[in-house]
Amino acid sequence: PEPSPQPDPCAPPLIKRAKRQCASVPAAVPASSKCDWEGPLGLLDQHLGECAYAPVPCPEACGAEVPRGQLQVHCTTCPKRRVKCDHCGCQLLASTLDKHVAEACPEVQVDCRGCGEPVVRRAQAEHEGAHCPEHPVDCPYAAQGCPKRPRRSRLKEHLADSAVLHAVLISRMLAKSRDEVLELRETVCALEEQSKELVRENKELQGQNKELAEKSKALHKQLKDLKKFPPCLITLEWAVENFCATVADGHKKFCSIKFQLLDYVLYLVVIVNDEMKGMNNEGYLSIGIYHESGGEVPIFLDGSSVTLQGETKDSDLTRVFPPDSCIYSKFEGTSIEEYVRIADLDPYLRDDQLQIVVRVRLHPSITLCTRWSS
Ligand SMILES: [Zn+2]
Ligand SMILES: [Zn+2]
Ligand SMILES: [Zn+2]
Ligand SMILES: [Zn+2]
Ligand SMILES: [Zn+2]
Repeated sequence: PEPSPQPDPCAPPLIKRAKRQCASVPAAVPASSKCDWEGPLGLLDQHLGECAYAPVPCPEACGAEVPRGQLQVHCTTCPKRRVKCDHCGCQLLASTLDKHVAEACPEVQVDCRGCGEPVVRRAQAEHEGAHCPEHPVDCPYAAQGCPKRPRRSRLKEHLADSAVLHAVLISRMLAKSRDEVLELRETVCALEEQSKELVRENKELQGQNKELAEKSKALHKQLKDLKKFPPCLITLEWAVENFCATVADGHKKFCSIKFQLLDYVLYLVVIVNDEMKGMNNEGYLSIGIYHESGGEVPIFLDGSSVTLQGETKDSDLTRVFPPDSCIYSKFEGTSIEEYVRIADLDPYLRDDQLQIVVRVRLHPSITLCTRWSS
């Protein structure tokens, strides 16, 4: 109960300060113990916030509503309160403590499921695995195939009773092992053989590899040399002027200017074969290449040719030298007989003029020798 406030000269009129009885009634107590607070209406809300009889919800949220004055007592019995297990020290809800101790607490002493001896719950598995005389254990010959699991206290008895069975199991396993060893030995032999073969092959490959490396080195050197001394090549353009007029005058042979390729002085010859009666090449134009001083000229067929130029590049007529003009054939001159029929010359004549392009390439090896010796 609150003391009545002191009269205040500035306070509002008395009618608004009318006394009011507290209506708080505790749920489970007789009406005689209800709150007897009386005070000004304005202080009622404040009183209700403190009234010992006013019902308030349990702070542990157990669902109960308890008079404020009895909260402390309720909290010592509330089923949602946290308590400490005396055995293991863990914190848990009071309502679950009994179950925890009876079924789960690792520090509680219990009777062994097998032998009934007292054992701390957390040590039960260890006790069964190492000590409990009533726990079933594997027979030492389980790996050999004995399916029995006697109680620990009966193991000696089992070993004595089953000695013959165990001996049979062991001999069976030994036989199997022997077969496996034989099989493994065969496999090892085969692998050794394969290994030897691989070593042999490897040696062979290494030899081949070395050979290839040497060849590659030699080729690289040759390539380097070739780059130092490029094959000797010349392209000569020759215009044979007044061709038809000259032929009509009775001249049948045209010679080009001389040109030099390394030590060789060469020139081209165009021959009109209309006079050589009885020859197969009658009526043809032949084009030859000659060496001024006679002797051999190593013309390289690959890259050497003679071209009669037509109106356009597509109508050009190109022929190569016959194969006997290659290296080491005695060379005083070689010609491409029957180069073109005289009757077919029209496309290559412009203003009575023949345009001839000759490409001569000397054999690369000769080129090198000549350059080295000069
Ligand atoms: Zn009250
Ligand atoms: Zn509660
Ligand atoms: Zn516990
Ligand atoms: Zn036991
Ligand atoms: Zn056994």
